[in-house]
Amino acid sequence: MKNKLNSKADMQLAAELIRDSRSMIAFTGAGISVESGIPPFRGPEGLWSRYDPQCLDLDFFHSHPKESWTVIKTIFYDFFGKAEFNQAHRVLADFEAKGLLKALVTQNIDNLHQMAGSKNVLEFHGNSQKLICPHCKKIYLPQEVNLDVLPPRCVADKQILKPDFVFFGEGIPEEAYRRSIEAARKADVVLIIGTTGEVMPAAMIPTEAKRAGATIIEINTEPSNYTNNITEIFLQGKASEILLKLEDLIQRN
Ligand code: NAD
Repeated sequence: MKNKLNSKADMQLAAELIRDSRSMIAFTGAGISVESGIPPFRGPEGLWSRYDPQCLDLDFFHSHPKESWTVIKTIFYDFFGKAEFNQAHRVLADFEAKGLLKALVTQNIDNLHQMAGSKNVLEFHGNSQKLICPHCKKIYLPQEVNLDVLPPRCVADKQILKPDFVFFGEGIPEEAYRRSIEAARKADVVLIIGTTGEVMPAAMIPTEAKRAGATIIEINTEPSNYTNNITEIFLQGKASEILLKLEDLIQRN
């Protein structure tokens, strides 16, 4: 890491790298959605300080579907379902629309990037705003399902529906995994935003890009596993504040 405070020169250099990039990708984590009111999982304010993470354990879900679903409904449908995208999600969608951002690899499952208008979103951990029948693979939107009666079931075969995101003990969706690695290996710049880089295998995406020659720009309120390791420009602060500044600098240049 060059320095921790955001000097004007760091912001300017980051803006120039983004503007001149040819195959930039973003890699986002729970931090980008904190300003939308969604807490991270860990830490004193995290969801796991209030709820038991075993509701997202695949074996527990299968053996105790009603118990799991009661917690899942509270977190992901009563709460996540009402969240709105913030300026950080919006700036990334605009970078893509302008041709600056080629792919957005996200660990988030809150659907906020898509709501902000991002198109090429590679969902490493799936999406909570879809439900799937594990048997016939039919996909439902939350509003198509009666969540007053738990656990919800598939209308076609009466199997218990599962939120379409990756549970503990479950593998990464194959296509998202393959396309994320491909995008990382082609990337010339990676914008890492709001992630500790602790969850594997997702955490290796920026490292893979760095190994293939990409320049790493990181935005986070705190240093992460990447900061003293692969990050070249560390911009310390809230995702929306930093991205708005970068957007402004790019527009002026
Ligand atoms: P994490 O909870 O481990 O870390 C969050 C990171 O965001 C920290 O480094 C923190 O310093 C930073 N941060 C906090 N507020 C910020 C802000 N305003 N601007 C910029 N950075 C900020 O998150 P993770 O690394 O993404 O790993 C958690 C796992 O949990 C992921 O796999 C993800 O699937 C899941 N998760 C998703 C959501 C969501 O969909 N919104 C929420 C919680 C957890």
